Amino acid sequence: MTEPPAKKNKARAFQPSWTEDYGFVYVKDRAVCTLCYDNVVCRTSSIKRHFETKHDKTYKDPAERAEAVKRAVARYGKQSSSLKVFVNSQGHVTEASYNLASCIAKHGKPFTDGEYVKEAFLSCAETLFDDLPNKDTIKTRIKDMPTSARTVQRRIDEMAVDVRAQQTKGLTDASVFSLALDESVDVNDIPPFRSLLEEMDSEYADLPLHSAVRWLSCGKVLERFVSCIDAIKVFLAEKGQQYPQLEDEKWIVKLFFLADITGHLNELNLRLQGAGQTVMDMFETWTAFVAKLAVFSGDIASSTFRYFRHLREWSSQRNISTAEIAEYMRELETEFTNRFVDFKSSPLWVTKFAELRKQLESTPVQQHGSIALALLSVFGSTYLCEQVFSHMKSVLSPIRSRLTTDNSESCLQLKVTNYKPQIRKLSKEKQGQGSH
Ligand SMILES: [Zn+2]
Repeated sequence: MTEPPAKKNKARAFQPSWTEDYGFVYVKDRAVCTLCYDNVVCRTSSIKRHFETKHDKTYKDPAERAEAVKRAVARYGKQSSSLKVFVNSQGHVTEASYNLASCIAKHGKPFTDGEYVKEAFLSCAETLFDDLPNKDTIKTRIKDMPTSARTVQRRIDEMAVDVRAQQTKGLTDASVFSLALDESVDVNDIPPFRSLLEEMDSEYADLPLHSAVRWLSCGKVLERFVSCIDAIKVFLAEKGQQYPQLEDEKWIVKLFFLADITGHLNELNLRLQGAGQTVMDMFETWTAFVAKLAVFSGDIASSTFRYFRHLREWSSQRNISTAEIAEYMRELETEFTNRFVDFKSSPLWVTKFAELRKQLESTPVQQHGSIALALLSVFGSTYLCEQVFSHMKSVLSPIRSRLTTDNSESCLQLKVTNYKPQIRKLSKEKQGQGSH
């Protein structure tokens, strides 16, 4: 523990009895309470007042109080010296402000939101920590947290630099890696689809893939339309509108079939889009789906409709002709099988899989490592590229338009990576610089 200096103008001498009686220790001209880490000036009256208002009523008798004080001082003594400095030099509020900035970047919110988050935090703290002895300390910490737009912006930049450094190191250390490339690079493609997405449930909010969006929403719209078709009929009848198709059983059967099959296709699409999948995973999903199509055909041929919910419900009330939809199923199967054949003759398949596999088979087992890794490193890049575009859209919203491109890049960087910024390290460096 640091020795108290000689008496100065403002800072008074730290009394050793303050530690024993009230659990205070001396840190940088201040008396720090080891019970709550709050700090006061080195004056008996201030220390006494702090203890009496914040802690005294917590203990039922002097013995319990003495025990608690002793434990708090001992606990404080056991902490590493770097943590002690950190705790007592605004380390927590600095670290917290990085966390806040990180949330703002990840959610694509304006940098000015820091202030309102603090306000919300403070108003919640009022009741949330009402029964805690150190509520005021907590509130002071929140108040002390730097949340200005400028700070948020700077924190985001620093975290992006940190993440970039980690990524560079990761790439240097990796024996193999894949690049995510995508042919669609026009960010301006997104806006027309965005409003469509906003009308949709948030279920797909993370998948605003502009190439697939029409298709996805198509499935969603169909599902909705079909599930409230009775209500729609009533509504149209009330409005005196005529739609003969809605009474045409053949048309309805096709509609229900379409709703059911797009449901299955959507599910396949979603499975293929998860980030972090290798091409092997995706190929397996695809193969399984092609096999499923044959099962679907059989299901329709036998009029069981186990995999076609809407058709099943509809057929429970009447006989339906399946000839036409059976034909659609055959076409779908052919289409999928052909794509499958195309893929197997594609350069990707030939070079990445067939050849690597041949190599793998002809190489001694102990040398398999890098080839196997190369195979596993091939991942579905479309999802990742599309994800970047969709994040770019939110990051480059009108609110952000005043900001520099560099800054948007930082936000994007934090948003699309699995690397976590080393916040504790960054805030400790900040402490070292003596500013924030
Ligand atoms: Zn205290």
